[in-house]
Amino acid sequence: MKKMVNCASCGAEFQAGLVRCPYCGTAYEPAAEEEYMGKLEGVRTELESHKDDAAKSTGKALLKAVVLFLLVVAVILALAIGIFILPEKRSRARQQERKAEFLQKNTVTTEYE
Ligand SMILES: [Zn+2]
Repeated sequence: MKKMVNCASCGAEFQAGLVRCPYCGTAYEPAAEEEYMGKLEGVRTELESHKDDAAKSTGKALLKAVVLFLLVVAVILALAIGIFILPEKRSRARQQERKAEFLQKNTVTTEYE
């Protein structure tokens, strides 16, 4: 028992579920609106799923960026240690050697005075 409606244009009777009058093609607005809303819901659902995809790929890209950043930081730290910290330790050791030599010479000279 489907509801029947009359076409607003030609007056023919057809099922209320049809979007258009089967005789003249005039849109039956309640059914057309329902179909439109259904399509809209479909588009919305599809958009939502794409949003999830985007979030996933953004997460992966972010993870890659973080890993790359950490690698760069590690390389910079390694270079900094190689360039600044190790030579400083060496020069400090050299300074202490010189200091020791100086003290040795001084003590030697004072002994002979
Ligand atoms: Zn009609």
